[in-house]
Amino acid sequence: MSTITVPPMRATWISPPSPPPPVEAALDAAYETHRRFRHGAFAEYCPTCHVPAGELCLARRSVHSARRQAHRARLAQTELVPLLAAVAR
Ligand SMILES: [Zn+2]
Repeated sequence: MSTITVPPMRATWISPPSPPPPVEAALDAAYETHRRFRHGAFAEYCPTCHVPAGELCLARRSVHSARRQAHRARLAQTELVPLLAAVAR
């Protein structure tokens, strides 16, 4: 007579999602700060995902290249001498 041996059941633990590492929070904070103060490319409208200036692109932690190019184009048009200093000349 043969007996069937059943392996002991292993407890399978489903661990809760681990909290994001500190670098994740730091990146989120950096993007939020840039967005809030419309720094850099966040000062421009995004022609790719059509978000207005001051909003994050719909791609998380990314700024679309067209938005960056729009920012660079505006920087190229900006004079180094501020307008008030130029008036004083
Ligand atoms: Zn975008």
